[in-house]
Amino acid sequence: MTAGWREVGDQVFVRRHRELDLNCGLVVGMSGCLVVDTRSHLGEGRALAEAVRSVTPHPWTVVNTHAHYDHCFGNAAFRPAEVWAARQCAAELEATGELQRAAVVAELLADGDPAAAELVAVAPIDLPDRLVDDATVLDVGGRLVTLRHLGRGHTGADLVVAVDDVVFAGDLVEEGAPPAMEDAFPLEWAETVSALLELVRGPVVPGHGAVVDAAFVTAQRDELAALARWLGDPAADLAFDERTRAIARGRC
Ligand SMILES: [Zn+2]
Repeated sequence: MTAGWREVGDQVFVRRHRELDLNCGLVVGMSGCLVVDTRSHLGEGRALAEAVRSVTPHPWTVVNTHAHYDHCFGNAAFRPAEVWAARQCAAELEATGELQRAAVVAELLADGDPAAAELVAVAPIDLPDRLVDDATVLDVGGRLVTLRHLGRGHTGADLVVAVDDVVFAGDLVEEGAPPAMEDAFPLEWAETVSALLELVRGPVVPGHGAVVDAAFVTAQRDELAALARWLGDPAADLAFDERTRAIARGRC
């Protein structure tokens, strides 16, 4: 597939980026398309938009899976399109956007990457304006795509995107690194992933890393459940293992 896209369902694509191992999604219908997440700054957003244009000329709609910068600081590259998100996502981004920016800029400077730091420093924070309470079905050029907020987990406002047998899980599921706990609700996360599992009939696209399956998601749910039990009673759960401990140390 061109421009880094890999087809994981019928006209459903994933673009996995070197930067942060981030996944973005693309669903192509007969007369429209849907872009899932927009990367970390306007330049990355524009590169993503260009990559979309290598696949389809159709007008786009955008979804942000949650309010972390790497999933939404590229939104402005897609305007004036609608940008969908869970209802609280817009509020979270408004409340934390500048704090996220400051932290990322400092980290990039510390890592010796002033060019990337500058791009994040000037990225417009463009809030989602089409908000989902529990579930919404979008007509994407004749294809039905369901957006669901299944409960709190990686953040307070994660949105799951389902089309045919493909599920885009955002950072509710993470491959290649422990789930990021920085803004998480660890006592509720496993239950939310259980709800997500009920939707899984094929590939699951995590926010970062390789595309996974129901078995992987089940294992991650079980680790999150073990973590929640341990948080509730650290002395009781002797089964708490190193891998689950690593989840607790995870970072965004
Ligand atoms: Zn995240």
